[in-house]
Amino acid sequence: MNKYMILVVEDDPSVKSLITTTLQMHDYRYITASGGNAAIMQTTSHRPDIILLDLGLPDMDGVDVIKKVRTWSNVPIIVISARSEDTDKIDALDAGADDYLTKPFSVEELLARLRVTQRRLAIMQNEN
Ligand code: CA
Repeated sequence: MNKYMILVVEDDPSVKSLITTTLQMHDYRYITASGGNAAIMQTTSHRPDIILLDLGLPDMDGVDVIKKVRTWSNVPIIVISARSEDTDKIDALDAGADDYLTKPFSVEELLARLRVTQRRLAIMQNEN
């Protein structure tokens, strides 16, 4: 059983279902949010281990979600966005994102990025 809990923030139902199906098949636990405010609330109440974050959300920009979460949490944030301009990536990374995946993405790449993040988490936990 995979012990990691992933918060999936995505308003597009087909992308959300692709991600959650992938997580389910690989024994991750997950919760979802379709907007920025819900994402912040879920992060507060459920303390996910990793956040997968879309930038184009109906109620606020994903970059602002990163900034808000970073005021009190170091949870790893992997951005998954259709925005492929360098400036968008730089804005998200500067705001505190740990990694950036451009849509369309492959499921295998998503899983590999999650494994990288888990290794980092494991190292951090061992250092504490
Ligand atoms: Ca979106």
